[in-house]
Amino acid sequence: MTVTAAKNMSFFDVLASEVVKASKGPHASVAFRNASAEVRSLEQQDYARPLRRSLGRSEVREIIAEARSSVWPRLNDESVTLVSPTEFTRRWSGLGVQFQLAKLRGAEGIALLGFYVREMGRSRLPLICVNTAHHPAAIGAAFSHEMGHHLVGQLFDSRKPHAQLLTYTAYGEHLDDPEELAADVLVSLGVFPETIARRIFLETGKTKKSESATAELPTSVSAKVLNYFEGRFGLSFGANLPSQKKLQYLAAVVHFAKLRRALLAEYDI
Ligand SMILES: [Zn+2]
Repeated sequence: MTVTAAKNMSFFDVLASEVVKASKGPHASVAFRNASAEVRSLEQQDYARPLRRSLGRSEVREIIAEARSSVWPRLNDESVTLVSPTEFTRRWSGLGVQFQLAKLRGAEGIALLGFYVREMGRSRLPLICVNTAHHPAAIGAAFSHEMGHHLVGQLFDSRKPHAQLLTYTAYGEHLDDPEELAADVLVSLGVFPETIARRIFLETGKTKKSESATAELPTSVSAKVLNYFEGRFGLSFGANLPSQKKLQYLAAVVHFAKLRRALLAEYDI
């Protein structure tokens, strides 16, 4: 799609129009319909209240401080750098966690981005598993989200033996789960550091604080967000991206963008 085509249509409508036939066709998978429904639901979801309910401003600050001291020293100052999966595991090898990389394709496999298991049995380190069948941007987000669990679990003294699988249907549920949301906050800050977040989400003249409750990303913001993802992380929603991944990644983009905007609007972070 071209960004100019988005002018009079919502963020989702443009992409949805490309794939709506496929989702109604005889070969449409359940996964595909789920992803489609999730994007719509995230678009309408309010992020301000769930954020305030799950994580206070001081908790968010605490999570950021912890992340900066151990994993991302420049978090919220600079966007994270995408490296290869093996390079992620090499860089993070001293952080008290072990890694498993898997390339899971097919409708079911591709739905999975990654997961984190805290309780691995005696004398074994917690495990981060990442599906490398994805675009580097999605792989980086999965690594960061699961590393977020590793950090947040220590901070919150979590008793959960493992975290949810990170899949295309999970983002909406994250809003009601402080640990999931905390992991996503780290991803969101890594994707949109403060200067960039302010430029993208505040300099539109439209994003007054009260509007965050009504949720939908304005089209101008959406185009900025899409352009940013393409320029910074090489993630383009053009014809080269398969429809299933397109919807799956779109759900992630909507989620992390709305979460980032809520952090800015609610907590000035
Ligand atoms: Zn998770």
